[in-house]
Amino acid sequence: MRSVSIFGATGSVGANGVDLIRRAGGPAAYRTVALTGGRNIARLAQMARDFQAEIAVTAHDELLDDLRAALAGSGVQAAAGAQALAEAAARPADWVLSAIVGAAGLVPGLTALAQGGVLALANKESLVCAGSLIHATAARSGARVLPVDSEHSAIFQALGHDNLESVKDVTITASGGAFRDWPLERLAAATVAQASTHPNWAMGQRITIDSASMFNKAMEVIEAKEFFGFRPDQIKVVVHPESIIHALVSHIDGGSIAHMGAPDMRHAIGYALNWPARAELPVAPLDLAALGSLTFRRPDENRWPALRLAREVMAAGGMAGAIFNAAKEQALDDFIAGRIKFTDMGPRVEMTLTALSAQAGFGDDPADLETVLHWDRQARKEAAA
Ligand code: NDP
Repeated sequence: MRSVSIFGATGSVGANGVDLIRRAGGPAAYRTVALTGGRNIARLAQMARDFQAEIAVTAHDELLDDLRAALAGSGVQAAAGAQALAEAAARPADWVLSAIVGAAGLVPGLTALAQGGVLALANKESLVCAGSLIHATAARSGARVLPVDSEHSAIFQALGHDNLESVKDVTITASGGAFRDWPLERLAAATVAQASTHPNWAMGQRITIDSASMFNKAMEVIEAKEFFGFRPDQIKVVVHPESIIHALVSHIDGGSIAHMGAPDMRHAIGYALNWPARAELPVAPLDLAALGSLTFRRPDENRWPALRLAREVMAAGGMAGAIFNAAKEQALDDFIAGRIKFTDMGPRVEMTLTALSAQAGFGDDPADLETVLHWDRQARKEAAA
């Protein structure tokens, strides 16, 4: 029987992963090693009971008693804290879904990779912060990393067996998020509630706000470089309000292959779960005639400075990705807490990159995890409002 672990099981991606495993037979078809969450103890405990998980872990030490109480009599082990997350990741599983939000997903993801097996990677922050460490760890253990971000799953599927050398460029699509059609002068007054609604995708709050600011797309551009090894000038972004085409791979012979599908993460998660085979998934089929038309526009970098910053981060290399992500996470915390405006996030990230670029070691590839975490801490301090 195949064994699975889901990190961030209580979140949007994680719960979709749990849903797919449930539909595929649940504990009768998969042995669940670890399920983890954060503050949503009731949901975590229910999932762990339903799947007879070996262990359930909350990221928060102070919630251990609540988790223990919620799991009483179930036979599921309860644990809490960052160390417990890493220990759960060290328990080998055939398939691990990395769906914690933020740089907090890096240590569990790297630890799981070191055990071998398949790492289905939704946590794009891991690749942006430490792409070379992810690849080196996978190479050492023989683990396979599969993309779960929909655009990267789309590129992966569109590439098929084609040789990377025949790829001219790739285009990833962006819905444009909540403020796609807002007049620019209104953006400074955008509220957290307004930024937390997405026109097409149902996702966690942080990635939804990152979609409105286009920081999510900026992260995905860097993720595409780190995952596939494309040159920065090969990665293009186009605004596609309908979110039906997720990515387009264009070849040197003039042919382009697009990946299409309803905006439903269960496709990309399910593809990674069933890979290299395909299985039926609860995803609505496309009806092109009903769709009628698909539209595309060039992204406006005055509205979304994050895209320009992504190019600068890729050009700088070294620790720029980890700094970019940490500064973005800090700026997002400050926006959510009401300390800064929506339009302050881009300048804060840029200022942090500029300030830290003068420090020794900025341009060096990360030698180890501790180096990445050091720059992550520095960037959060520098970016804080
Ligand atoms: P959510 O906010 O919905 O869920 C995040 C998960 O991580 C929850 O289980 C949460 O627990 C847990 N968590 C939160 N903080 C911590 C922490 N400090 N340590 C450990 N666990 C923590 O996020 P999403 O599901 O939207 O996104 C997850 C990842 O997938 C992100 O990297 C995102 O960029 C990526 N992604 C998401 C997509 C989507 O459709 N949502 C699409 C493509 C990629 P709890 O809720 O119990 O507090």
